[in-house]
Amino acid sequence: MKYDHIMVRFGELSTKGKNKSEFIRVLAKNIKSALSDFSSLEYIVKHDHIYVKLNEENPDNVILILQDVSGIHSLSLVYKTSDDIENLKKVALELIKSESGKTFKVKAKRSNKAYPIISDQINRIIATEILKNTSLKVDVHNPDILLSIEIRDEGAYLFTKTYKACGGYPLGIGGKVMHMLSGGIDSPVAAYLLMRRGITIECIHFASPPYTNIGVIEKLKDLLAKLNHYQIKIRLNIVPFTKIQEEIYRVSNESYAITIMRRMMYRLASRLAEQRHCLAISSGESVGQVASQTLDSIKVINDVTNIPVLRPLVTEDKENIIKLSRHIDTYDISIRPYEDCCTIFAPKNPKTKPNLEKCLEFESKFDYESMIEEALKNIEVLYIEKSDELF
Ligand code: ATP
Ligand code: MG
Repeated sequence: MKYDHIMVRFGELSTKGKNKSEFIRVLAKNIKSALSDFSSLEYIVKHDHIYVKLNEENPDNVILILQDVSGIHSLSLVYKTSDDIENLKKVALELIKSESGKTFKVKAKRSNKAYPIISDQINRIIATEILKNTSLKVDVHNPDILLSIEIRDEGAYLFTKTYKACGGYPLGIGGKVMHMLSGGIDSPVAAYLLMRRGITIECIHFASPPYTNIGVIEKLKDLLAKLNHYQIKIRLNIVPFTKIQEEIYRVSNESYAITIMRRMMYRLASRLAEQRHCLAISSGESVGQVASQTLDSIKVINDVTNIPVLRPLVTEDKENIIKLSRHIDTYDISIRPYEDCCTIFAPKNPKTKPNLEKCLEFESKFDYESMIEEALKNIEVLYIEKSDELF
């Protein structure tokens, strides 16, 4: 007997209230897109589950892909059949015979309350049938085989295995952010965590040629190609940052250069976020990681903007961030040597407790407003899309 469907369960849906139907609609769309290579699959979308009908497709491959689709809580490989009790006895026996183990438990659930037999009674009828026809014993606490039976309006589903999936929300449900992508280890991981919460990303990168080389852009493209696994098309905005950066070093104290540079980055990101209808900006900052990421620094840098700033890695330590970057396969790309505008201009003694008045004083020495305008006008836009060659 072959399992013929995959039952997809949603996570955290109870918190979604009236957005539930939108959640399911977007999740179903994302599932179909993730499984687009499997042409024989069919999809049945219900209010509490989505079913993928396998039509002879290999379930292992399909399950692996589904485990990585945001918004899916868990999956079961199920056999769909008529809910007639005699039929259930027959099917349950056949299924359990194909499993290995010495003990079992039957767990019935009756979503269709019109079904004439209550769950406890179904458990007893099916367990008796199994005890009569096999050498298996019942173990209600720690069974080798847990046989679940769910009775729904459209029939019964039987299964013995449930697979955990990544949870979160379906991509596209949570609005869009302007994500600051640097080419380091942190920012791709931060992007991944945002996407897991259903947030779509668009990226902004501050480029400082000739101080930073063209290899940086190739690196960003490779990183985003990895993130295409979660979001199939990502817009990358490359902001020419050289002139602003040179001015910062002309007008400010070396120890304040990074703080002011980051204030400029935040100004640019906020303006572009507004133009591109993003609800927030986001970064890979983590508290205390470097001088510009102490709480004192973050406060002074954040002072230039009113737009919400999301920092998914704020409390993560580097070890865990590296683990995540290996999980999403960006680590080896991130550690490729390259010169970033932060590393090239890195001062010897950056301020860990910058003073806001001092920043304003340095900034008043150049017309950064018009430079910001000009930089925004000269943004280069690239789209990085999922391509068949890469996957
Ligand atoms: P990463 O944080 O990605 O590993 P990093 O550690 O070199 O790179 P930091 O100096 O820690 O970068 O910068 C903190 C955050 O600021 C980055 O995670 C990123 O979101 C943003 N950022 C830094 N440099 C750039 C840049 N050139 N373009 C866009 N965003 C940047
Ligand atoms: Mg960092």
